[in-house]
Amino acid sequence: MGITFLNFLRKPVTVHYPEVKRVYPDRFRGVLALTYDKETGEENCIGCRLCEYICPPQVIKVEMLKAEKRNFAKVFTLELYACEFCELCVQVCPTDAIIMMKSFDLATSDRRELLLDKDRLHTIGLQFEPSWATGTGLRDMQTPPKAAPVEHAKAEAPAAAAPAAKTPATSAPATSTEAKAE
Ligand code: SF4
Ligand code: SF4
Repeated sequence: MGITFLNFLRKPVTVHYPEVKRVYPDRFRGVLALTYDKETGEENCIGCRLCEYICPPQVIKVEMLKAEKRNFAKVFTLELYACEFCELCVQVCPTDAIIMMKSFDLATSDRRELLLDKDRLHTIGLQFEPSWATGTGLRDMQTPPKAAPVEHAKAEAPAAAAPAAKTPATSAPATSTEAKAE
């Protein structure tokens, strides 16, 4: 009865979605999208197919279009209904062309609407707020920091010398008292 009374007084944790939307974390793994270069307006995807190779459920299909200055994706499809939202495709993308958005607002009762083609993926990229995570950002984050070589060596030297100075004391010959006891 006490628990019931406590829960009766507790503030509700639910929100009236979609009228009220929660603030999602910066690295929210929402729907996937393709991006444009902000300066040139060109598609960022170069059709390299790395995202296709890494995708565990194999829901991405890419066909490369070779061009003079750079390559493009001639075909890019993503079956969002089978996506695991693992973010691996984002992590490997060399040009930050595929990202995740801070939204999952694509709910539908028609499965075909979740087979996303290139145009739809670009539209989603303009429609929602992007997550923090990009391929470049994630790879930078995972790279181990490089040690400062000179300062590091100086700091290590006295520490390495200290045990060496103690070594003779610990292995010193037995005192005359100890020798007598033996
Ligand atoms: S998030 Fe994972 S499962 Fe979804 S498309 Fe990317 S790699 Fe595939
Ligand atoms: S989205 Fe990125 S990883 Fe996938 S094909 Fe395009 S450039 Fe390559």
